[in-house]
Amino acid sequence: MTGAVERDRIAEVVSLLTQLARGELSGRGVPSGADDEVDALIVGVNMLAEELEARRSELEDRVRDRTIELEQLNHDIMRLAELGNLLQACGDPGEAYEVIEQVVTLMFPGLSGALYLFNASRNLLEVKVAWGHLPSGQVFPREKCWGLRRGQAHLVMGEALRLSCPHTQQRLGDSICIPMAAHGETLGMLHLMGHNLQPGQQGRMLTEAKQQLGVAVAEQTSLALANIQMRAALRQLALRDQMTGLFNRRFVEEWVEREISRADNAGTSLGIIMVDIDHFKQYNDDYGHDAGDAVLGAVAAVIRDSARGGDVPCRYGGEEFLILVADIDRDTLMVRAELLRENVARARVEHLGAHLPTVTVSAGLALYPEHGATQAEVIKEADTALYTAKRRGRNCVVTAGAE
Ligand code: GH3
Ligand code: MG
Ligand code: MG
Repeated sequence: MTGAVERDRIAEVVSLLTQLARGELSGRGVPSGADDEVDALIVGVNMLAEELEARRSELEDRVRDRTIELEQLNHDIMRLAELGNLLQACGDPGEAYEVIEQVVTLMFPGLSGALYLFNASRNLLEVKVAWGHLPSGQVFPREKCWGLRRGQAHLVMGEALRLSCPHTQQRLGDSICIPMAAHGETLGMLHLMGHNLQPGQQGRMLTEAKQQLGVAVAEQTSLALANIQMRAALRQLALRDQMTGLFNRRFVEEWVEREISRADNAGTSLGIIMVDIDHFKQYNDDYGHDAGDAVLGAVAAVIRDSARGGDVPCRYGGEEFLILVADIDRDTLMVRAELLRENVARARVEHLGAHLPTVTVSAGLALYPEHGATQAEVIKEADTALYTAKRRGRNCVVTAGAE
């Protein structure tokens, strides 16, 4: 009888071990209380089962976490590619900022961040895109960023406040400043910040994966933004006269067409001031072509400075300029042209350290629709008025229709 009980108990241990071998870890043996070797075996097998169970659940947790990470990574890679594609299709920086904001907020959920670009004079960084809590000011000088000063990503982890960039306004958690460069030039900086102060909230930490993603995003966007800026600069080049920086003839002709249809719709007028430097051939002969160029630049500067918002000042040809003024009446146009003429006559021009004699200009005025029904007609009327001004002795302004 005792032998049979023993056999059953041993069979139970064997059965438990068989279950364990099959991966069924939930079974446990019950010691008989005899405190003998078989009981010791049962306790040992139970401990083994418990440990295996704990390890398995740990492993399952790790696999689950890793799977989530991989899925997230997969998503991020797809979004990064999508960001690149969308940015390629952007025509101007404004569009690009919108795209970046939309994609980046999906890529860094729960994190705060901002994209800064250098201003035109390259001394200040200005925020262009921001999400979450704005981690730094709207504008700050380059020296306030360790990342930009050292030309590499600057990571501040944990409580190391000492190494925080001075541009950081509010340290909410770990933070990284990633310089953005393209074609050998630094364009700006991407700032990402975690939110360590609210523990337990998923996705609010600046993990290593998010840091690497930040670097990839900075690379992707800086290249795209540099290309957009380059395209804009090329467009400008095609619109502007190289010597004076004023708009060129091609642009002005397109602009007049658009303004004429706008004036038609709104029932307003469009004024044209055609300006020509007096006796400029003689000026070149007397003082040399370089001096002539300096004077031409000075006249262009006066024209540019006297332009008001909405005016389009343009170099129409050699020493001839057109200023287009939207929605203006004949008398106001005359006042504007007279002022311009006086300012040119007063301008002082320096060349090679010496003052050059001043030049004067003559101007012809015409208005759409008063003096012509098409662009060609109105410009021709302004030209005729200019010719009249020349005939009258130059350094004066004449409105179309005058004899
Ligand atoms: P008017 O008062 O009748 O306009 O006389 P003008 O001598 O100014 O007119 P004309 O049309 O006979 O000569 C224009 C001169 O402008 C000839 C040309 O050498 C000069 N000119 C045109 N473009 C430039 C330029 O880019 N630089 C310089 N230095 N001169 C230029
Ligand atoms: Mg002239
Ligand atoms: Mg001329």
